[in-house]
Amino acid sequence: MKIVIMKFGGTSVADLEKIQNVSKIVSDSVRDFKIVVVLSAMAGATNELQKLIDKVNFTSLPEQDLVITSGEQVTVGLLSMILNKQGIKSIPLLGWQVPIITDSNHEKAKILNINNSKILNCFEDHDVVVLAGFQGVSKEGMVTSLGRGGSDTTAVAIAASLNAERCDIYTDVEGVYSTDPNIDKSAKKIDKISYEEMLEMSSMGAKVLQTRSVELAMKNNLTLQVLSSLTTKPGTLIVNEKKLIEKEVVSGVTYSKNESKITISGVPDKPGISAIIFGILAKKNINVDMIVQNISQDGVSANLTFTVQSRDTDVSKDELEKNIAKIKYKHISTDTDVTKISVVGMGMMSQTGVAEKMFKTLASEKINILAISTSEIKISVLIGKKFTEQAVKALHSVYKLN
Ligand code: ADP
Ligand code: ASP
Ligand code: MG
Repeated sequence: MKIVIMKFGGTSVADLEKIQNVSKIVSDSVRDFKIVVVLSAMAGATNELQKLIDKVNFTSLPEQDLVITSGEQVTVGLLSMILNKQGIKSIPLLGWQVPIITDSNHEKAKILNINNSKILNCFEDHDVVVLAGFQGVSKEGMVTSLGRGGSDTTAVAIAASLNAERCDIYTDVEGVYSTDPNIDKSAKKIDKISYEEMLEMSSMGAKVLQTRSVELAMKNNLTLQVLSSLTTKPGTLIVNEKKLIEKEVVSGVTYSKNESKITISGVPDKPGISAIIFGILAKKNINVDMIVQNISQDGVSANLTFTVQSRDTDVSKDELEKNIAKIKYKHISTDTDVTKISVVGMGMMSQTGVAEKMFKTLASEKINILAISTSEIKISVLIGKKFTEQAVKALHSVYKLN
C-alpha cells in the first residue's frame, strides 16, 4: 500500500471555497495512493482562540490546550464531509483518536509515539484519512498541543511512522524563499535546500515550517516538499545535504521579531555567576539565545546582555529580580523593540568574509548591531525593530539572492 501525506495550512483551509480546492487536490491523487490529509485550523482561528484564553486570564494548561486545538476539529470535519459527498471514502480523526501520544508538556508537547494501526485499519475501507494537525494526547489522557505551527510536525511524524512515499506541505507561498516573500518581493524560490539550512532558517524566524518538523524530517531522512495549494508549480524540496549539487554561501535571510533583550548590569565578575543566572532561567524552561558580556571599567563587575523569546520576557525579569540577593547585580532592564536578523548558508563553512559583508552592509545602512551570535552555517545579529525591512532587503541584495 502506497501512502502519501498532504498537509494543508490555515490559509489553504481559510473558508469553504478553499476547502473545496483542497478536496480537488486530494481527489487528483486518490487513484494512486492512500492519503493522510493533515489539516490546520482556518487561518486566524487559532489566534482568536488564543485571545479568548487570554481574556479568561487564568493559567490552566490542559484547558488551554483543549481550547486552542479546537479549530482543527472544524476543518477536519468539513473536508471529510466534502470528500464523502464527492464519493471519496474518507474518515476524520482527531489526535487522541489515533492516538498521537505526547508528553504532558502542554502548549509545546513532544510526540512520544504514534499508534498507526488505527490509520492502517481505516485504509481497509477508506481511501483518505483526514487528520487534525497540532493535537496530541498525554499519557494521562489529556489533549495536548504541539506548539504554534505544529501541524507541520504532525505531518512529518505521521509520514515517518507510516513510511510514506511523500510528505507534501501545502501553504500560501510556492515554496521556501531566499527571504520572506511577503517582506521582499524580489525573494527567489529555492528549488532544493538541506535539512541543516532549513533548520536554521525555521528556528531563525522563517515560519513556513515549524522547526521541530524539520528536525524530525532530518532524523528520519524524509524528503519534504513545501508547495502552494493555489498553483500546480513544483515547490521546494528539503533534502539530505548529499543531494545538493551546489552549496550556496548564503541561501537565505530570515528575521524574527519575537525576541527580547535583557541586560543585567553590575554583575560581579567572578566564576559561577553565569551558571547561576542561566540556571535560574533554565529551571523555568526559558531558552536563552544570544549572549554578550562586557567587563565594566572598574574590572570587578560586568554587564550581561542576552535574548529570550518575547513571551518569556516578564517571567525572566521576575525570576532574576527574585534572585537579586543571590546574583548581586545592580540593575536589570528589558527591551522588546528588537529583531534578530540571520543569514544562513551551507557554503559559509568553507568561505570567509560572509560576516564582514553582513556587518559592513548594516553599517552602511546606519543600523546598529546590539548582539551577535553564530553557528557553522549562520550569522545572527540583533538590531532595532524599526530597521527590520531595511536590513532584510539590504542583506538579501548584497548576497545577490534576488
Ligand atoms: P500555513 O498556514 O500554511 O502553515 P504559515 O503562515 O505558517 O502557513 O507559513 C507560510 C508563511 O511563511 C508565508 O506566508 C510567508 O510569509 C512566511 N515565510 C517567512 N519566511 C519565509 C521564507 N523564507 N520562505 C517562504 N515563506 C516564508
Ligand atoms: N493551527 C495551529 C496554529 O495556528 C497549528 C498550525 O497551523 O500548524 O499554530
Ligand atoms: Mg504554519
